[in-house]
Amino acid sequence: MPPLGHYPTPVQRLPSLSAPGAELWVKRDDRTHDVYGGNKVRKLEYVLADARARGARRLVTVGAVGSHHVLATTYFGRQAGFEVEAVLVPQPRTDHVIEVLRADLGLGLRPFAVRSWGAAPAAVAARVLRGAYLVTVGGSSAVGTQGYVDAGKELAAQVRQGALPEPDVCVVALGSGGTAAGLAVGFAAAGLRTRVVGVCVSSPPWALRLAAGHLARVCSRRAGVRGAHLTMDTRFLGAGYGHVTAAGDEATELARGAGLAVDPTYTAKALACALWFVRARQAGSVLYWHTLSSAPMGPLLRGAPEESMIPRELLALALVARPPHDRRQARRMALT
Ligand SMILES: *Cc1c(COP(=O)(O)O)cnc(C)c1O
Repeated sequence: MPPLGHYPTPVQRLPSLSAPGAELWVKRDDRTHDVYGGNKVRKLEYVLADARARGARRLVTVGAVGSHHVLATTYFGRQAGFEVEAVLVPQPRTDHVIEVLRADLGLGLRPFAVRSWGAAPAAVAARVLRGAYLVTVGGSSAVGTQGYVDAGKELAAQVRQGALPEPDVCVVALGSGGTAAGLAVGFAAAGLRTRVVGVCVSSPPWALRLAAGHLARVCSRRAGVRGAHLTMDTRFLGAGYGHVTAAGDEATELARGAGLAVDPTYTAKALACALWFVRARQAGSVLYWHTLSSAPMGPLLRGAPEESMIPRELLALALVARPPHDRRQARRMALT
């Protein structure tokens, strides 16, 4: 099967965001694909190949209502001829969340709305019992994570070719863990000493640490490597998944000046952490791994339903943002 994405993705220095003695570089995984890029493409290379090898015709996955992973699975899954189903859970409402949901529906996703993450496993299990192939949250199974082991080796080749210096740290958003864990294993496999810092963007942090650590161990064992170096930074999470932060907003402004678009849920928080490493002179060379698709949403929204045509129980999953202590009210809203 030909690769889904375009590799290697470019690396660039960001002089305007560097400091004396601390250089910031970016790995442009926003450009993995022309229609929908970002970090889900590399994982789906492996996940879709596995689904096909097992004779699956239908996929089921799970994510928040504006999940990039659900959109990527829908787009690439449909392209590969699969039917695609997803169990969708609430998240704070933004324009981007609504666009992603509209694109999902326009591409033919079959959605199953549930009220909370707690209700998701039973809904997913029901679809799996009906024969769907399970694509885990974020595509972060050991199979999907292999895509980022490859990406780590890809970066090591770019270092060897002189495209960038060996990074002291690589900073990347950590949602379900596959990207950060795969990179740590890929770097170690290729002999880089680069430490991966996964920026926690979801809660609870201990569950993310567990998931990422588990994936790093399984993939290290499979690849026969030792010394994968992965840590997690929880300082940039703020009120939780999908909630904006002041540091993220500042990083968004600075990124715009450097010609990069970031999102509030993942990449603004990861870039804020990378900027901290630069400003605190905690590393001579910092690599920020950009995981957000930079492809325009227009083509994905062609044929998508307008917001007013989206069934109410789906639209209600995009919650009007409120402080996390108001969870019960948020839950009630999702029911109305
Ligand atoms: C899904 C996603 C992530 C998180 O990657 P994981 O492998 O799930 O940790 C980071 N950034 C963006 C933009 C994403 O869509």
